[in-house]
Amino acid sequence: MWLKLALGRFNTMENIKHFFKSFLFWELLKGLGVTGKYLFARKITIQYPEEKTPMSPRFRGLHALRRYANGEERCIACKLCEAVCPALAITIDSEEREDGTRRTTRYDIDLFKCIYCGFCEEACPVDSIVETHIFEYHFEEHGQQVMTKEKLLEIGDKYEAEIAANKQADAAYR
Ligand code: SF4
Ligand code: SF4
Repeated sequence: MWLKLALGRFNTMENIKHFFKSFLFWELLKGLGVTGKYLFARKITIQYPEEKTPMSPRFRGLHALRRYANGEERCIACKLCEAVCPALAITIDSEEREDGTRRTTRYDIDLFKCIYCGFCEEACPVDSIVETHIFEYHFEEHGQQVMTKEKLLEIGDKYEAEIAANKQADAAYR
């Protein structure tokens, strides 16, 4: 009985508090307080494209295929990236070379299908396919969205130093 009375009293107190909070626009005042706090705080507007925000080494932008230091392609055509890609954006053909190793004859990524999930990079056993920091790119003609092996290797060659540095920076967390 006493518990019921106590709970009834509690509910009544809550109702009264709620009534006064609504009456005095308490939530509105709290919101305005937050606005006021940031009104005089240091502004953090970034003047893009002249200024850029810092980027994580894990940023997932345009893809690239990497080579080893001796110039040999890293990719061994295992097709794990093709299998894991949830968007079915990767198409690989391969053949065996004279020395018995296997390499791709075709490696296409359709960037219109890609959702930049990074699964291909995660699945690759030889750190061949990676996603770079490049996010400013465009296409002018139909078909240019398909990144061929040649284009991917070209990006890899151009940005190898940056890609390697990002891999190194992220290694401790893997
Ligand atoms: S980032 Fe994801 S969607 Fe894009 S190619 Fe790689 S696995 Fe496929
Ligand atoms: S990029 Fe990596 S995962 Fe994809 S086929 Fe080549 S070696 Fe295999």
